Amino acid sequence: MAIERIVSTSAVDETEVEQELDQTLRPKDFANYIGQKRLKQNLKLAIDAAKKRDEQLDHILLYGPPGLGKTTMASVIANEMGSQIRITSGPAIERAGDLASLLTNLQEGDILFIDEVHRLHRTVEEILYSAMEDFKLDIMLGKGPSAKSLRLDLPKFTLIGATTRTGSLAAPLRDRFGMIHRLEFYSTDEVSHIIQRAAEILHISITPEAAEQLALRSRLTPRIANRLLKRVRDYADINGDGIIDAALSHSALELLEVDELGLDPGDRMLLLAIIDNYSGGPVGIETLAALTAEERSTIEDFYEPYLMQIGLIERTPRGRKVTPKAYRHLGKKQN
Ligand code: ADP
Repeated sequence: MAIERIVSTSAVDETEVEQELDQTLRPKDFANYIGQKRLKQNLKLAIDAAKKRDEQLDHILLYGPPGLGKTTMASVIANEMGSQIRITSGPAIERAGDLASLLTNLQEGDILFIDEVHRLHRTVEEILYSAMEDFKLDIMLGKGPSAKSLRLDLPKFTLIGATTRTGSLAAPLRDRFGMIHRLEFYSTDEVSHIIQRAAEILHISITPEAAEQLALRSRLTPRIANRLLKRVRDYADINGDGIIDAALSHSALELLEVDELGLDPGDRMLLLAIIDNYSGGPVGIETLAALTAEERSTIEDFYEPYLMQIGLIERTPRGRKVTPKAYRHLGKKQN
């Protein structure tokens, strides 16, 4: 399925211009961070308490599907704490030495954000344990019988880890986070609000009906909402007078092949693969990956969470099953 996904939740395939735009759209404080009410309440409380005691914040693990605002929330936390933030990701820290240099360069109260924390190398991860627990860094000097271990004090920092699944996290690492919070999919109203806020920042004119229509097709995910808004703006600039109304956004979305549930050709192909080849399932994830030529992790992280959220797919002990709602949506007859 080598098609460019307009509804992809991945930030990786974004161009530099898109990433820059993304930066301007990122809310900087709780007031501008729309939705995730319970998460914000919990974090506000923890931040106020930490400030009152003049201590650093406990380590925080944020988990949930991509594009829901984990990185954004980490920056908001840093901002609300008045702390500096260093941003990195699990796969980017290749050797123990990379982590050691990151940690020793931190200052008291800094926040270290590690995206995809479940993808840390085992040797790197082990160093993190004592760093998180005792703010100590254990390093080995030399090799063999003459090797010596050295213990360095680290500044008291806060680690914020983000992951798409807590299940892939080693238990000793998970246990060292004082707070573990899940990010939820947004409501259509919240996404519509996010679209209107982004439109204002980017000086885009959009009617409330068009914002609502985009919101309905954004997979309840802010990153996709912002991306759809930008694509539809391109369409409006070329095919209209630059103002996005319901009719215009409708034709733009048709062209992008995003349907009224926010599914793109990739999602439809996945559902049809289960219906046509396995009479709707259950089918194992590995088989599904082979059938669609997608990575297992892509299916698990990008496709499935939303398809399950809106009730088109079910997970059973024997694999994934397509629901009657999916049959109806695709205009297929269930045998
Ligand atoms: P994640 O780290 O979970 O993959 P990001 O934090 O990178 O997601 O969010 C993707 C984009 O969505 C951000 O650039 C931001 O503009 C937007 N966004 C995310 N959450 C919100 C929110 N609650 N309110 C407004 N915009 C948001």
